[in-house]
Amino acid sequence: MKRVLITGGAGFLGSHLCDRFIKEGYHVIAMDNLITGDLRNIEHLFKLPNFEFYHHDVSKFVHVPGQLDYILHFASPASPIDYLKIPIQTLKVGSLGTHNLLGLARAKGARILVASTSEVYGDPLVHPQKEDYWGNVNPVGPRGVYDEAKRFQEAITMAYHTYHGVETRIIRIFNTYGPRMRLDDGRVLPAFIGQALRGEDLTCFGDGSQTRSFCYVDDLVEGIYRLLMSDYASPVNIGNPSEITIKQFGEEIIKLTGTQQKLIYKPLPQDDPKQRQPDITLAKKILGWEPKVSREEGLKITYEYFKKVVSEEKK
Ligand code: UDP
Repeated sequence: MKRVLITGGAGFLGSHLCDRFIKEGYHVIAMDNLITGDLRNIEHLFKLPNFEFYHHDVSKFVHVPGQLDYILHFASPASPIDYLKIPIQTLKVGSLGTHNLLGLARAKGARILVASTSEVYGDPLVHPQKEDYWGNVNPVGPRGVYDEAKRFQEAITMAYHTYHGVETRIIRIFNTYGPRMRLDDGRVLPAFIGQALRGEDLTCFGDGSQTRSFCYVDDLVEGIYRLLMSDYASPVNIGNPSEITIKQFGEEIIKLTGTQQKLIYKPLPQDDPKQRQPDITLAKKILGWEPKVSREEGLKITYEYFKKVVSEEKK
């Protein structure tokens, strides 16, 4: 049985990856320090003989006994609110954590895939963003701790590939949503849906003309799986190119939830990217991948999930 280590395994993306690799017949070791992760996301896996959980912070030396075939490094705070709250840990998990996991990959002869982000493009001056665009990042702004940690992560991953011959993969993830996002993580989708469910107005930052492109989690997981199994070591964008302004997005959520509330406008946070849309030509070409789930479909499933979470909170 092949063995895979998934860091951030109790988080939003990590937990979906655990499910996928269990389904594919792997022995899955999930690792998480539970700062932003939640054991409820993987509770259903604990009874399985081919699932293990290590409560550990990957910024510290990582030890995993036995063989390892694959490592997926998904440990990191990933929402602006989270990395403003814990900036140093964010820097450490992207830098020291990645270094530890690359060392582990080298020692075990494992292939490693690291989760990078569209944030490496910063507030992009090129649109849509292609992998060969180098970005427009403010290193000392509020997002700098995340963006620069991820840029360092890409650099050290390529260095381990080039100088140590480690098999590495780098995915640049664009905005992704779905069940198991945290209702309080400050991201626009849980914020809007949470507000609608509580009967509050939806807080749109700025005039809402900034754009994002939202990918449903199952599509992302498929892209990750294909990239891991490919032989492509340079960064690959995975995301849904369907671009929308935040104002339009708010209106979609109002329609979906049937809330009587309206959009209210708050100041735009510093360095908030004005536009973001992945160019996925490369993923289509080398992975035969493109997203399948429409926003309408994905939002419906996600809304049902949040309805359940909120009604359980009320109990
Ligand atoms: N946003 C908003 N209201 C909120 C939370 C976020 O209008 O309550 C905006 C935010 O300013 C940004 C966009 O929605 O322009 C996406 O924000 P998110 O934090 O989800 O992700 P990121 O900015 O990292 O893409």
